[in-house]
Amino acid sequence: MTGAVTVDLDRAVANYQRIVRLATVSRLDESEVDWAPFDEFHRLIPEAYPALTAALEAIPTSTHSLLYRWPGSRGDDSVVLMAHYDVVAVGGEWSSPPFAGTIDGEGENAVIRGRGVIDDKASLVGILESVEALVASGFTPVDDVYLAFSHNEEVLGDGTPGIVDILENRNVRPRLVLDEGGIVGESIFPGTSRPSVQIGVSEKGTSSVRIVCTAPGGHASVPPLQTSTARLARAIVAIDAAGETPFVSDVTRRLIADIGEGATGALADAAAALAGPEEDVVRHFSAVSPDARAMVHSSAVVTIIAAGHTVNAVPEEASATVNLRIAVGDTVEAAIDRLVAAIDDPGVRVEVIERGGPSPVSPSHGREWDGVVAAIAETYGDEVLVSPYINNGGTDSRNYTRISDTVYRFSPCHMTLGERGSIHAIDEHLRVSSFTDGCGFYTRFISTL
Ligand SMILES: [Zn+2]
Repeated sequence: MTGAVTVDLDRAVANYQRIVRLATVSRLDESEVDWAPFDEFHRLIPEAYPALTAALEAIPTSTHSLLYRWPGSRGDDSVVLMAHYDVVAVGGEWSSPPFAGTIDGEGENAVIRGRGVIDDKASLVGILESVEALVASGFTPVDDVYLAFSHNEEVLGDGTPGIVDILENRNVRPRLVLDEGGIVGESIFPGTSRPSVQIGVSEKGTSSVRIVCTAPGGHASVPPLQTSTARLARAIVAIDAAGETPFVSDVTRRLIADIGEGATGALADAAAALAGPEEDVVRHFSAVSPDARAMVHSSAVVTIIAAGHTVNAVPEEASATVNLRIAVGDTVEAAIDRLVAAIDDPGVRVEVIERGGPSPVSPSHGREWDGVVAAIAETYGDEVLVSPYINNGGTDSRNYTRISDTVYRFSPCHMTLGERGSIHAIDEHLRVSSFTDGCGFYTRFISTL
């Protein structure tokens, strides 16, 4: 029997604070990274998690990322639990130092503040504490369980791709990969009638292109009739005017049907529209929230504009970077074709910088789905409605889609809208009870593996 295994919560919270105190800030330019806190985290694990360290095989990576294998009793199948231990840099004035792991308040009202308390150290420590407790209780999973902790997720770094390469070389084909994603708590869909949780089963693609306009330059006192800057401006206005392109996947239809039941306002209208033309579903669901609108569209937005170097010279080149977010059902090629058609100017060159399409859609039924849903129900109550959704943003887990058919994005973290809004912002904070509930989720879930 393993159902009774629980994490020692006082110990877990103390370790959570210790790990939050490590300023594991990742940076795009690795030469600017202070590696001491990363090394400190590597040293902390054997000391704070001795049972885990003894039972699990530490698989060397060529980076600061960590990979462990917990051998299963049968071991002919495997599951990967992901988290990242890097955090984004801090800015602004915090109420308490961002790497102090300060806890204010008592009991249910206790709140921990610090960079990374939510993203992603709540999951990271939840996994470590749960595995430690389960190993110490004598539990052995049936499947091999891999713990994969990236050191540079926040800068889209090489940590996770390197881990996936290692697993692929070992012919590991996980039956399930679980990464951060949907949360528990106040809904991002106003109008829902009951608490709801979304598990990410896919994510939109991210691609970037640069549009480049060239024209004769020269002295600004005798400007040419056609300038690169005016041409670029026309292209940008055309991209903006073309707007977003609707796509409603089967996953989003199920989500709308689930959360729309008993709902009010635009969400209820969206659910009622499911029986009719798609454009009505798109119109009503887009009115629910900006997140909802992004879920039913591919988008193109200009993020960087560059031209000119001095006040009195007409630039020969003007360029803009366009960030494309590509919905499930759409493709990179089609999105670029639409962009070219919208610009409708053969003199504007389009260069592809980054090409990423939507991730394959994992199944939202079957053993893996049921396992995660059951652990959610045991932790947060049966009344919580669990639905699949497509993440608007990108996660490291998309790298795993080449070795696994079932990749879920879910963070067992109960969050208020204020807590959710503090991610990557000033005063990132979380109720300590939300962290300890997350430990409960991982313990229950891992004990079924
Ligand atoms: Zn994260």
